[in-house]
Amino acid sequence: MSHVEGRPRVGISRCLLGDEVRYDGGHKRDTILIATLGHLVEWVPVCPEVEAGMGTPREPIHLVVDASGVAAGAARVRLLGVESRKDWTEPMTRFSRMRVQALVDQDLDGYVLKADSPSCGLEHVRVHRHDGVDAIGRGLFAEALTRACPDLPIAEERSLTDRAFRDTFLSRILEHQRRRLTNR
Ligand code: SF4
Repeated sequence: MSHVEGRPRVGISRCLLGDEVRYDGGHKRDTILIATLGHLVEWVPVCPEVEAGMGTPREPIHLVVDASGVAAGAARVRLLGVESRKDWTEPMTRFSRMRVQALVDQDLDGYVLKADSPSCGLEHVRVHRHDGVDAIGRGLFAEALTRACPDLPIAEERSLTDRAFRDTFLSRILEHQRRRLTNR
């Protein structure tokens, strides 16, 4: 795929563009984000859960604290089906590593992630505990992305409703693009 002339490429959780990829067959179209940044960037949409083979609609999944699990922000977790307890930890971890590497090769200059998702959420994602007290962590795809791309401007759509934050985020994206093109 060739770049849209001059625009920075920005990865995005696909449901934010209005694609019906959520577990319930719905979407989370973010009209403000699309209206304010959509004409300035080239979106690169990714739905980790669909691409990892979970299908739509699908059973909802959540993060559960488990010392033998994988890192997810400050927590160690497993990614489980809410009812079935099917363990998606290894498939999602493996998929995320591979998909993030492919994204690195696509010269991204930023990423917008869907808040609160056990796959895409960047911060304060709810992690369930057997004692009923919740902790916070990070979605497993977001974890792979932040590890592989520590300098990439990444934000959740929720924080981008703030105009000043959004302007700063766009500046960081453009600066990332400028540096990337300069260092070629
Ligand atoms: S939050 Fe991420 S995994 Fe969930 S539907 Fe959106 S793109 Fe897919």
